[in-house]
Amino acid sequence: MKWLILTHHHPDHHFGAVVLRKAGARVIAHPDRRVLAAEGGEDALIADWVRVVGLDAMRGFEFADTPDRAVTTADTLRLGEKSIVVAHPGAGHSAGDLLVWLPKERVLFAGDVLVEDGVSMVVDGNADELLRVLDRVDSMHAAIVVPGHGAIPRRPARLVQRTRGYLTGLQAEMRAGVEKAVPMRRALAALPPADSTRPVSLNSRRRRNAARVYVEEERKYMGLDEP
Ligand SMILES: [Zn+2]
Repeated sequence: MKWLILTHHHPDHHFGAVVLRKAGARVIAHPDRRVLAAEGGEDALIADWVRVVGLDAMRGFEFADTPDRAVTTADTLRLGEKSIVVAHPGAGHSAGDLLVWLPKERVLFAGDVLVEDGVSMVVDGNADELLRVLDRVDSMHAAIVVPGHGAIPRRPARLVQRTRGYLTGLQAEMRAGVEKAVPMRRALAALPPADSTRPVSLNSRRRRNAARVYVEEERKYMGLDEP
């Protein structure tokens, strides 16, 4: 049996799955496939991607990210001598996040919980939740962490620290705005505009995260998230 593990359901992380599934692989994924990018429906999402990568690259495309083996908490795969732990750490980056952990080798595939520049996206997740996920990543003391985008960091703990610093800084900034009744538009004014054609460029990530975290902080301030 060959397995394909999807760390989450963003298009850039699963649109190639159909090729492997047709080659006989079974898919391990979280069953919650909801992402903002698919809000307009799957056809609209495909049309968006044709615009991004061209029709040729999308030829033969089919959605193939529905799990054959669903993981909502944790699951251990044993392939010969090798153990692979697949676990849902919480909805920090997206509802269907999974971490992939090789316990013997101490290698962690973090998906987009971590990206090279420390600006992980929370528009499909939640900043507080992602901070809890980062605590969990820290506690794993991985020797090697593979981020969802960019180079493998020489010191994994540094990238976690940098990501945490970015998120807590953004939360403090947005919280201050909310407390002073600064409208979101003005609270975001200091940030460069999002790139209209590149939704995940650094500027776009920073601005879209800020809008999301502003709303999160507003909800907390108003006591809307209390149990
Ligand atoms: Zn992602």
